Amino acid sequence: MLAKTKENFSASKMVCDSLCSSKKVSVKIKAGFFDQVKDFFSRIFDTSDWPARWHCGNWTDFHGWLYIISDSVIWAAYFAIPLLLFSIVKKRKDIPFLSIFWLFIAFIMLCGTTHLIDALIFWWPVYRLSALVKMATGIVSVITVYALYKTIPAIQKLRTVDQLETQIEERKKAEQEARHLQVLKQAAEDLMAKKDEFMSIASHELKTPITSVKASLQILQRMADKNENLAPVAPFVDKAARQVNKLTAIVHELLDVTRIQAGRLELDKTDFNLAELIAECVDQCRLDDKEHHIQINGDKDLMVYADRNRIDQVLCNLLTNAIKYSPGEGLIKVAFEKQENGLVRVSVADNGIGIPEDKTGDIFDRFYRVENRPQYYSGIGLGLFISSEIIKRHGGEIGVESILGKGSTFWFTV
Ligand code: ADP
Repeated sequence: MLAKTKENFSASKMVCDSLCSSKKVSVKIKAGFFDQVKDFFSRIFDTSDWPARWHCGNWTDFHGWLYIISDSVIWAAYFAIPLLLFSIVKKRKDIPFLSIFWLFIAFIMLCGTTHLIDALIFWWPVYRLSALVKMATGIVSVITVYALYKTIPAIQKLRTVDQLETQIEERKKAEQEARHLQVLKQAAEDLMAKKDEFMSIASHELKTPITSVKASLQILQRMADKNENLAPVAPFVDKAARQVNKLTAIVHELLDVTRIQAGRLELDKTDFNLAELIAECVDQCRLDDKEHHIQINGDKDLMVYADRNRIDQVLCNLLTNAIKYSPGEGLIKVAFEKQENGLVRVSVADNGIGIPEDKTGDIFDRFYRVENRPQYYSGIGLGLFISSEIIKRHGGEIGVESILGKGSTFWFTV
């Protein structure tokens, strides 16, 4: 048996040697590079230059078949993997890094083909085809390595299943909170709507009796002025008239809010002298307050095109606030000037209680009060809201600079 095998070995070695040595040497010596390339591609399936691998070298059956079976198994596995990958890619088009998948499919398939050819060469010596497939495998491998290298940062950023689950949980919680907030917001809006409705009805209902009381008090005042016997009641009538004026102001504020909410705050613009208007406002305020000194600074001839009554309302509100929120004696400065942009800037500065920095953004909101102690400072938190709406409707701006305990400067442009 061994003798027979040895005989086979020497026979095949002879075939191999004679074929290999003669052909290889002659091609190498005779042909230039381009001729070799041309020759290579024109005879890609030509097997005449080599013996089948079984006849080249000393193969035992065991060794040869081990080689062939191993290569075949590798080939089968290398074909099955891309098929499985392909079935995944086909079903899941949303898979991230799809191009990498395709490159892997090509790369593994080509690797498998090189093994298949290696097994086939035992009978079919297609060494040119083998080289070509190896070259293609090499190119695709290099491209795959490069693409993988480029994709690594993005792959590292991919979240794990745990991270995704946590994120989903967090999102669910946030959505729940948002829904809860929405419900609360809706409830607050409903409440506000009811409040507006109530305010609208109440202010309209209050208007008529207040007007009637006011008229009666005026008659009484006139009678007290003329009749000496009624002189002792005159101070009480004056006091009642002042309180009724306050009540009227509150009702007007409520009616204004109703108008603003309904988008019915209308302006009647005219040209007027600003200094005169400010002087009127200051005189009005001096009737109720003798303790503060009010200083006015500005061009006496400055004309403004705006709704005179509404600007009067804003000015009076800022002035009464300046007086109200700087208890005791104090200096209040009213200044006005034309700015470079053509708008007029008016400011009212006091040395009063000031406003905490984190509250200055809220004081122009409806019903907002920093000092919610009616026993010290009366008010319902509507004056600045109405003032800001009036100024906004004029296309101007309103704001405040304040230092807690030192005073505030309210300003507006128009
Ligand atoms: P009201 O004075 O009726 O409360 P406003 O809308 O006029 O309402 O003012 C809103 C809030 O802004 C006031 O409650 C007060 O806390 C604050 N505020 C307004 N003006 C001044 C000021 N000159 N100094 C300090 N705080 C002020």
